[in-house]
Amino acid sequence: MMKLTIVIPCYNEEQVLPWTLGKLATLIDRLKKEADTDARLLLVDDGSHDRTWQLICEAAKTHDHVNGIRLSHNEGHQSALWAGMQESVATSDAVASIDADLQDDETVMIDMARQINEGKDIVYGVRKKRETDTWFKRFTAQSFYKLMKSMDSEIVYNHADFRMMSRRAVEALMRYPERNLFLRGIVRRLGFNEGYVYYDRRARTLGESKYPLKKMLAFSVDGITSFSTAPLKFITFIGLAMTLISLVMIVFGIVRHMEGNTIEGWTSLLVSLWFIGGMEVKQRPRYFVQERV
Ligand code: UDP
Ligand code: MG
Repeated sequence: MMKLTIVIPCYNEEQVLPWTLGKLATLIDRLKKEADTDARLLLVDDGSHDRTWQLICEAAKTHDHVNGIRLSHNEGHQSALWAGMQESVATSDAVASIDADLQDDETVMIDMARQINEGKDIVYGVRKKRETDTWFKRFTAQSFYKLMKSMDSEIVYNHADFRMMSRRAVEALMRYPERNLFLRGIVRRLGFNEGYVYYDRRARTLGESKYPLKKMLAFSVDGITSFSTAPLKFITFIGLAMTLISLVMIVFGIVRHMEGNTIEGWTSLLVSLWFIGGMEVKQRPRYFVQERV
């Protein structure tokens, strides 16, 4: 039997978790019977402030197939997924990921598992249509795909982070050094043989979206900057231009000073203002596990 771990990132999901755990228990039975797959769940509590972790602990106590890790603070959806994959890859033949609200149709994981069993390495869940989204989400998502495409990024259209990967594909992913995680793009670059399953995405039934506009924008920026050098070139150009302007302004300030045409403090203020610069590069591990059950 194929050993599958289903990774579920959870950020303040106390409202939806009990329902989700019930649905997934049914799925696990079906996976055993219909896809020769022995599945377990790995719930990743991404620094929730509600009862999410308590619920995970209770479920882990009563069900053998439930495991959980708790991150030390909120790292974001992508890092939570990464943590789950990293923690489970050594003990699994395949790893799947699905959001805690089960907006994605979990039952197509049976088909995903069959495809992995038949030798596929990455099986993408692809949404048939976007009717359940608000027009705003639909519009921003579509514009984003178009933008990515215009920069030659081959992401799978209408695929989010609902997919199943073989162990060797996950191992390859874990060696990827990119730090601004945009998993759906990185996974595509791994270059393994891929399969697809198609499904209708449901509206979220319980709890609310954990992706406010701010997070969505930050995520799109990661998507773009980790796959295209265009922004980098643009920033380099702006940087060079600013350096030149600053130099001119500094020389101008000093010349004016020597001419004696300035009031007290003007030169030092101007020169230091134009001298501001420098960038801080942060490098730290992607996540810290605080507890395990
Ligand atoms: N999530 C997370 N950390 C965050 C934000 C979200 O782990 O900082 C999880 C969340 O619990 C859910 C998934 O990521 O399982 C997707 O979030 P959500 O359903 O709110 O996003 P949407 O479907 O609205 O895009
Ligand atoms: Mg959702």
